[in-house]
Amino acid sequence: MSDSFAKEITRRGFIARVGQSLAVANLAGTLLKGAEALEVPDPPGKKLGWAIVGLGSLAINQILPAFAKCEKSKVVALVSGHPDKANKLALRYGVNPKNIYNYQNYDTIRDNPEVDIIYIVLPNGMHAEYTVRGLQAGKHVLSEKPMANTPADCQQMVDAGRKANRKLMVAYRCRYEPYNQEAIRMARQQELGPIKVILADHGFNIGDPTQWRLNKALAGGGSLMDIGIYSLQAARYLTGEEPSEINAMMYSTPGDVRFKEVEETINFQLRFPSGVLANCTSSYGYSGQNRYRVVTAKGWFELEPATQYTGLRMYVHHDNTTEERVLPVRDHFALEMDHMSGCVMENKEPLTPGEEGLRDLTIMAGIYEAARTGKTIKL
Ligand code: NAD
Repeated sequence: MSDSFAKEITRRGFIARVGQSLAVANLAGTLLKGAEALEVPDPPGKKLGWAIVGLGSLAINQILPAFAKCEKSKVVALVSGHPDKANKLALRYGVNPKNIYNYQNYDTIRDNPEVDIIYIVLPNGMHAEYTVRGLQAGKHVLSEKPMANTPADCQQMVDAGRKANRKLMVAYRCRYEPYNQEAIRMARQQELGPIKVILADHGFNIGDPTQWRLNKALAGGGSLMDIGIYSLQAARYLTGEEPSEINAMMYSTPGDVRFKEVEETINFQLRFPSGVLANCTSSYGYSGQNRYRVVTAKGWFELEPATQYTGLRMYVHHDNTTEERVLPVRDHFALEMDHMSGCVMENKEPLTPGEEGLRDLTIMAGIYEAARTGKTIKL
């Protein structure tokens, strides 16, 4: 159980107990002031300084706002090719303008003691270069997913982290939030018995054909690299195992200008050593798929949506009934960044280190090979 989840349960217990004592006090004719029932948060503790590299949609809409919910992390620097945008965001988030960098003077961030951790939020094909430069500048690095375009690039990033003696984490935010953590607990503790099959599906209809996600050099591949990685991650973190065999097929609509360089849809199957089979899909050609289901001999449990930023829902089915389980809602990015800050403060290994990103890229290379050759790939 995560710290935040445990805290929530404790908080609920606290509210319930306060509620009971209020009722008793009222019965006794004693008036309690409302303020006594409030849980007053502690003053902020130590926060590490973060630099955000790449001010695109994810950075602007999710990551920068999430700092307001962080306990251990604050934004102190921005790295961007667009000074106007960076200046505007610096004003919004209280970043000192002297801490705005561009891609040319990025390496001088080594001289800035306010920056402890760098978060790489650039297109996939740029993660390796900016991670390695960040580590060489003596900073800890959180890289967005997928970690890089190839296993070789991931290995280079892991090696750079070791050489610089700095932490490297991959931003697998779902590992840090309550719904996916509860699904992992249920799967690993076999709450509905041993797992037979995992079904995982991620898809959306991609728009603008000129965007970097459809450019092989910047994206590394198509829907698999961007969202199939969530299906793969789910199969791996639910089982806690590494796949031993892969089958795959892919398809791109002929003549669709969006899929000149990268695949539209890819279906892959994974065999795990315990016997669990996973059926995973990803697509840029259909809309609104975001779910996984874990099927056991006694029933199933599923998340749908499973990996969106908000609105996750869990359903559990057994004995001919389906129940919904409601869990605390948390900001995935705040949890993930605070995890990284905590690991740096306490000199601990992150839950999703560089090696975890490397494992996914190695398996994804196997998925592409299986799809290309039509052969089962043994890992
Ligand atoms: P985006 O296109 O909105 O932003 C990319 C940023 O990189 C832009 O600010 C752009 O100006 C900058 N950039 C610098 N050089 C560039 C170049 N040569 N070509 C294109 N852009 C360049 O993309 P995004 O959706 O913010 O994704 C950024 C990263 O975050 C990707 O690796 C993506 O996979 C990842 N991501 C993760 C999640 C998640 O839930 N963890 C969600 C969305 C995106």
